[in-house]
Amino acid sequence: MKKIVIAIDGYSSCGKSTTAKLVAAELGYAYIDTGAMYRAVTLYFLQHHISLTNPKEIQKALSNIDITFWYNAKAKRNEVVLNDLSVEDEIRKMYISNQVSEVSVIAEVRRALVAQQQKMGKKRGVVMDGRDIGTAVFPDSEVKIFMTADVLTRAKRRQQELLEKKQLVNLDEIITNLEKRDLIDSTRAESPLRRAEDAYLLDTSHMVIEEQVDFVLHKVGSKILNEAYSEQQS
Ligand code: C5P
Repeated sequence: MKKIVIAIDGYSSCGKSTTAKLVAAELGYAYIDTGAMYRAVTLYFLQHHISLTNPKEIQKALSNIDITFWYNAKAKRNEVVLNDLSVEDEIRKMYISNQVSEVSVIAEVRRALVAQQQKMGKKRGVVMDGRDIGTAVFPDSEVKIFMTADVLTRAKRRQQELLEKKQLVNLDEIITNLEKRDLIDSTRAESPLRRAEDAYLLDTSHMVIEEQVDFVLHKVGSKILNEAYSEQQS
């Protein structure tokens, strides 16, 4: 069966990555968490004290950054790897969440990561989640989903996730972070977060994860069936 690209964009902490991961597993597709890539660059910039206003320094830093993903069989999860070291736990911490959107507005950073993401999805058969997948990385994605949810629901889910990683963060701090990131992400000049015209809107405020996954799989199924039918007719 023809492999497609599924783009899942939307606001922070709507459940994009949980949904994308399960959809990918169901279809036997690769899952690419593009937010993890921006987080890894942010970690590197902080570790190396890179000035966010010095294009030369940024360019040099980017040439020293290698981001890949690997499957950690022991932990049974995909992990993002920065220069041969798994940084999966580190990049999820609040100090990275508080900086990542400022790093993500930088045009040089976006260009480098978008090019790498396009390479990763070249053979298709991928589910990619982020902010600009359906609009900039793969505008030709066969299925595009734009996820949203009310901010309190998102903050509570995020707080629970952090708690599971033994990080206790109060709800107000999380809400402030989510709102700040959403604002920066949606108003930046380079590939801002916005719903692609042909993206299905998925509001997860009152949904459980199984319903979100079913919604996406249903759209994928319809798309594949329609394409097969059109091919048969031509
Ligand atoms: O998805 P996640 O919340 O981990 O993303 C972290 C941040 O990375 C976002 O708030 C956004 O600033 C940036 N990002 C982006 N473009 C993407 C994915 C993430 O700008 N495709």
